[in-house]
Amino acid sequence: MSVPKPVKGLAATLADVAAAYQAAAVIPHCTACSRPCCRLDVLVLEMEWPQIRTLWQLTETRAAFDARLAAGKGPVEIRPWNGLYYVHSKPCPAFDASCGRCRVYGQPAKPAGCSDFPVYEDGAELVADLRCEAVDVAALTAQLAQTLGEGARVLQSADREFPFLVTLSVKQTTARRGDRQKRR
Ligand code: SF4
Ligand code: SF4
Repeated sequence: MSVPKPVKGLAATLADVAAAYQAAAVIPHCTACSRPCCRLDVLVLEMEWPQIRTLWQLTETRAAFDARLAAGKGPVEIRPWNGLYYVHSKPCPAFDASCGRCRVYGQPAKPAGCSDFPVYEDGAELVADLRCEAVDVAALTAQLAQTLGEGARVLQSADREFPFLVTLSVKQTTARRGDRQKRR
């Protein structure tokens, strides 16, 4: 007797589509990008202490670094908040502007926010950030629709406050095979 393959959840499918789109359409464009996000002139990057310590090559304790920031003697581009650090207004130290590459690509020092930008799954929706010039919402929508197949409709909406954030949500017009099986 054959065992039916488990049907992937929507969130996992969207995460796969985001990863595939990043690999095929975004990352190949990064070295030729005219507005690299790693300059952090537009984006704010959230980091944890181990990443701050590694990227800024700090040798002091976290307490000493925090005290230095509080005294206004730390890197001006780093702001602490709620146990995290927010970096803005100067290029990331790991950004190699000569070739447009990240020096910590694939390493733990690379913040999660870098891998999520500009397309990521969020709460069973796909979010695309148009501040990245490599994002083509129409192509991403087509790829998502093709992955989901017939019976799914992709709806697009822009954030009211931040219109460069476009959300793709999925409306299931017919039950998926796995959903029908669950009801038996
Ligand atoms: S903005 Fe987009 S294309 Fe440019 S460097 Fe960042 S991810 Fe790559
Ligand atoms: S860690 Fe790498 S990908 Fe992230 S901002 Fe710095 S250079 Fe860019």
